[in-house]
Amino acid sequence: MTASSPISVPTTVKNFLSRPVNHLIDGADTPSRSHEQFLTFNPSDGAELAHVALGAEAEVDRAVAAARKALDGPWGRMSGSDRSKIIWRVGELIEQKAEDFAILEALDSGKPATYARAVDIPLAIDWFRYFAGWTTKIEGTTIPVSAVATPGNYLAYTVREPIGVVAAVIAWNFPLMLAAWKLAPALAAGNTVVLKPAEQTPLTATLLGEIMREAGIPDGVVNIVHGYGHDVGNALAAHPGVDKISFTGSTEVGKSIINAARGNLKKVTLELGGKSPNVICADADLDAAIAGAANAIFFNQGEACEAGSRLFVEESVYDRVVEGISTAAAQLNVGDSLSPDSQIGPLVSQRQLDRVLGYLGSGEAEGATTVTGGKRKGSVGYFVEPTVLTDVTPSMKVVTDEIFGPVVAVSSFSDHDELMRAANDTDYGLAAAVWTSNVSKAHNIAAGFKAGTVWINSYHVLDPALPFGGYKQSGWGREHGSSVFEAYTETKTVILNRG
Ligand code: NAP
Ligand code: MG
Repeated sequence: MTASSPISVPTTVKNFLSRPVNHLIDGADTPSRSHEQFLTFNPSDGAELAHVALGAEAEVDRAVAAARKALDGPWGRMSGSDRSKIIWRVGELIEQKAEDFAILEALDSGKPATYARAVDIPLAIDWFRYFAGWTTKIEGTTIPVSAVATPGNYLAYTVREPIGVVAAVIAWNFPLMLAAWKLAPALAAGNTVVLKPAEQTPLTATLLGEIMREAGIPDGVVNIVHGYGHDVGNALAAHPGVDKISFTGSTEVGKSIINAARGNLKKVTLELGGKSPNVICADADLDAAIAGAANAIFFNQGEACEAGSRLFVEESVYDRVVEGISTAAAQLNVGDSLSPDSQIGPLVSQRQLDRVLGYLGSGEAEGATTVTGGKRKGSVGYFVEPTVLTDVTPSMKVVTDEIFGPVVAVSSFSDHDELMRAANDTDYGLAAAVWTSNVSKAHNIAAGFKAGTVWINSYHVLDPALPFGGYKQSGWGREHGSSVFEAYTETKTVILNRG
């Protein structure tokens, strides 16, 4: 097969990359007070992409002050209907610049541009459209007062109010989509936001910031501060002027967010890591299940919090499934994010490459068998071969730890109780899946999973209307759907003595 020519980089993206990438503070493109910068790289070849303003406490202070002023100002007074129009317009404007967003995302994160076009950008648009509809539907309730100790004639009701200034700190695996997951519901509920993108992938958030202004978001309602997690992220988590922190990232950093947030007891929601079980029963449509299991782990280079990284296969079809997923893995096209043929791009950074290769080494040392893959691909860029491991035991690090790369650990089961024990034998509880044609079995297994999302005969199905979040150490709270407003509003109870 001859390689197709690479997807071309639009002039608008070239122009964007020729300018310094600054913070967005109080509606203005803002360099750091220190004038310090850091670089963001293209993981396909390690080349520098852009200079990015390196934020510090000074920028966090200014952004939080701007967000507070906007909350007390025009945004706080705007009707839900007017907020809705602006949030909807954000989605429209992303759609108009969809190609720029897709190319920037591919360049910065390494994901194939074809996937960014098909998944990341359309989903980000959907998120703004869905939440634009919520601005006018965030309701309280009227509640009877009946306790004997409070005789009288009362009218009691609740109202949902914005929580205030929200800080959002996000990971690099779905940069624009994670920004949309935070901003769309936070703004729909009437909050103002300070967003810290991941240091590896600051570009699409910056373009989104430009769009926010164009859409008519008042100054200070959305602020973006670039920089490192231990500086900017930690300063936001600790800031007394922040009312709520919404974090997406690793379980380890999630715990440090909780510590930092103690000072003013700001509200915390956490979307953390996973090590999700994916179960294939012997009675499944095996072709669909094998393709689904490959997609469950290899989509987005395995850099997906919900990735199906532990595959459990019923004994009688084990050999067939291992062969099927290994063949699928070996056939995946691993290459530059701008090649239209690529199905797997590079990992996001040298650090992530080292992490994944470290796990592959540990699997080998602990006795796992590498059926396919297992190595770095090439010496330029951060590519790893899609990898299938068998002969794994529950205590191996490749089974217990979130690798966050294209590596699946496969084991077999022969009975329901043994399966459920093994599937739930993890500190994580983000997602799980089962493939079977037996409806009662599907629901029994779904009921047994300790996980926030369960897919039956499917995987990676995410929708702005569906609650998403983790059991156990995969997080606190739920994002999306109506559930997310638990995180982005305060409930006020009002009691009137009618006399
Ligand atoms: P990470 O290292 O936890 O970083 C996430 C974000 O937190 C980054 O912006 C990072 O800044 C910042 N950060 C780092 N240390 C901090 C600190 N001490 N205080 C405040 N902020 C800090 O995670 P990652 O490697 O970027 O992302 C991978 C992880 O995210 C995986 O565990 C994955 O499962 C999880 N994830 C979860 C979901 C979900 O919805 N549940 C979605 C996507 C990803 P830097 O830019 O300096 O790194
Ligand atoms: Mg980058």
